[in-house]
Formats: sequence, structure tokens, C-alpha cells
Amino acid sequence: MTRLLVATKNPGKLREYQSLLDGLPVEWVSLQDVGLSALDVPETGVTFAENAGLKAKAYARASGLLTLADDSGLEVDALGGAPGVWSARYAGPRASDEDRYRKLLAALADTPADQRTARFRCVVAVATHTGAVETADGVCEGSIAFAPRGVNGFGFDPVFIVAGRDKTMAELSSAEKNAISHRGRALVAMRPILRRLLAAKA
Ligand code: IMP
Repeated sequence: MTRLLVATKNPGKLREYQSLLDGLPVEWVSLQDVGLSALDVPETGVTFAENAGLKAKAYARASGLLTLADDSGLEVDALGGAPGVWSARYAGPRASDEDRYRKLLAALADTPADQRTARFRCVVAVATHTGAVETADGVCEGSIAFAPRGVNGFGFDPVFIVAGRDKTMAELSSAEKNAISHRGRALVAMRPILRRLLAAKA
């Protein structure tokens, strides 16, 4: 069976990939499994697709395996799309999730409710060991709350109100989040790409 590497050091993300891409004829492999957890690939791109591609390519080259990687972040319309690809670094290198969402709430302190629209965006990239890359996108629309709510999830989840619902992402269960999230949607779009690549290998 083809080994499929998921280029993440986060065991939660690996489980999410396995559950959303359930049924593919692959053996799932983590960076730890192939001894690559010390390899750091700087996110030097200016788009999610660029960063996801850079990571997938670097780990595919290093492992010789079909490799998935993603890049994601939050785009806030009133901030011209920021923090975008800089979401993880929004409040400096040592900041916490709470520091980041507090900074965002402060930046939007004078922005009225109808101008607080935002979206989470994710690009998943798959790379073959020869360096060929394909990508799939997922988006989850919403708006930024005035105060945090909920304890689930991570990152900006407590301040992101999901469009059409009166709940923040942090008030959803992980199953509810996976069903509508940017990463969930990108992985659903990635499934037929993987099926085609796996069929071509067989
Ligand atoms: P990365 O794709 O793991 O580099 O994540 C980038 C950053 O975007 C994270 O550190 C979070 O700040 C933010 N982010 C990405 N996805 C989510 C999400 O599902 N919920 C909340 N924040 C997210």
C-alpha cells in the first residue's frame, strides 16, 4: 500500500486528516514515523498555496513519499485581508493564541458589526517525490465577535462567529467544526486529486 506522509507535528491534525480522508488505500505516516520531525521548512511564501506547496515539496523530497501539507489563516476584510498568511505570527513569535485574538479585537475595536466579515482559508498541497505539486482550497465564512466565547478548538476560534450560526467556532464540537471548516473543505476537495494520483501509481 502507498505510504502517505502528513507533514505536521500536530497529532490532532493527523487524526483530522485520517478521518476526513477515510477510506483511501494508503498507509498513513507522520513526520515522527519517518524521522523528519526536526526538519523545519520556513513559510517564506506570500500566499497559502505557496507555503503549503513549499512544505509538501520539501518533506516529499526528504522522505521520498507522497506528502500532504497545508497552510491556513484568517482573513479579515476590515484589515485588508490581514493577518492572512501571517496569522500564526500576528502578535510576534512568542505570543499565545489569546495574545493574537486580543490583538485582533483591539484592532477592530471601532469596527461596527456589519463590517467585521472574515474568513478562515486553508490550502492543502500534495507533492510527489519528484516535486510535482497540486493544491486544493477550502474557505469558511464568518465574522469577528466583540468578545471571545467558547473553549473548543484553537487559534482565533473563540472570536470567529460562523456565518449563519450564532456560535463561535470555539462553541462547536470538533465533529461540527470539521464538517464546515476551511481545512475540512480543502481536504474534501483534495480527495479526488489523491485518488487520481494513487490510481496512476497502481
Ligand atoms: P498553520 O496553517 O498551522 O500555519 O496555522 C496558521 C494560523 O492560522 C494558526 O496559528 C491560527 O492562528 C490560524 N488558524 C488556522 N486555522 C485555524 C482554525 O481552524 N481555527 C483558529 N485559528 C486558525
